[in-house]
Amino acid sequence: MKPFSYTASPARIVFGQGTIDTIADEVRRLGRSRVMVLASRRLDAVAAAVTESLGDMAAVRFDGAVMHTPVDVTDTALALAEQHHVDAVVAIGGGSATGLSKALALRAGFDQIIVPTTYAGSEVTPVLGETANGRKVTRSSPHIRPETVVYDVDLTLDLPLETTVTSAVNALAHAVEALYSTDSNPITDSMAIEAISGIARALPTIVGDPRNVEGRAELLKSAWLAGTCLGTVGMGLHHKLCHTLGGSFGLPHAPTHTVVLPHAMAYNAPDVPDVMARIATALGVADAATGVFDLVASCGGPTSLRELGMSHDQIGRAVELAISAAYPNPREITAAGLTELLENAWSGRRPEVR
Ligand code: NAD
Repeated sequence: MKPFSYTASPARIVFGQGTIDTIADEVRRLGRSRVMVLASRRLDAVAAAVTESLGDMAAVRFDGAVMHTPVDVTDTALALAEQHHVDAVVAIGGGSATGLSKALALRAGFDQIIVPTTYAGSEVTPVLGETANGRKVTRSSPHIRPETVVYDVDLTLDLPLETTVTSAVNALAHAVEALYSTDSNPITDSMAIEAISGIARALPTIVGDPRNVEGRAELLKSAWLAGTCLGTVGMGLHHKLCHTLGGSFGLPHAPTHTVVLPHAMAYNAPDVPDVMARIATALGVADAATGVFDLVASCGGPTSLRELGMSHDQIGRAVELAISAAYPNPREITAAGLTELLENAWSGRRPEVR
């Protein structure tokens, strides 16, 4: 028997099709009345509709969120929010919009309603990663976690396939690392297994039929479960490595997760064979690490860090950075082991079956 403790993260979840129409009611439910609408230009039409539905409660719009939450963008948005006496943020978009919303909430105490349009899962975590001076620093606080999440499947129907695949594997990574987390517990384990099997079922369906509503709904629900895992238990080698590669080398978040995950799993597999067997069963394959690699390849996702723009001579510095701070992981992390992992991920080699 493994003893455990479990802390639930309170959040209101609204899930369905057309749920974007409930945003104004959700703002009133929180007792707020001065809203900043955050959305990228790509989601301009949705942001305009939400702004209109908010009527007098719409105070200001901001469309400058970018990946890895740079603090100078947050400063600009915060000045605008203060100028317009904002008391709540409605963020529509992927993890970048959510990250900016969290950064604002942490600084100014705004309530947050997040409308996720990717599968990043950040909307249900108390975690914020911010970048300043080329380094990404993560912190965790209950004040960072959004009050309400409105999942609208309709907003994900046109998410480009490439982003769909990489973002879904980002969610898969949360579920995988939750299962071998030192804080793992039966509740998080069940959410993780449900998320893994949901992603494995839905992704091929969507690749064949991108606007398949049932497939999109299953993927979004799985992303919520996987994000909840991420917000509940500590992550390991895979997240640490992707964080380093994103924050210090500017590699794109979800594609980096997509390339690294099978290799991080192969690295950890010898020390957690039972967990890998559960993951393999949930994926419906014989071996977990190669199963993820093959799923990515069959869905047309990226399989090498080289194709994401990393140069080979950055591997040494990445290893140095990734081992500079201690963090829990089932298998001991060594410079030699990490170098081999990154060499494999850089060249896109299929992991070996264990
Ligand atoms: P993203 O938010 O940058 O979105 C990727 C691209 O997809 C963007 O160009 C965006 O405009 C576009 N897009 C989003 N939704 C779309 C839609 N429905 N249709 C068309 N285009 C759409 O990327 P992401 O991978 O979702 O998020 C990455 C960021 O999230 C990183 O900064 C990462 O650190 C952070 N993150 C944080 C956590 C956490 O818990 N703190 C968890 C996961 C990710």
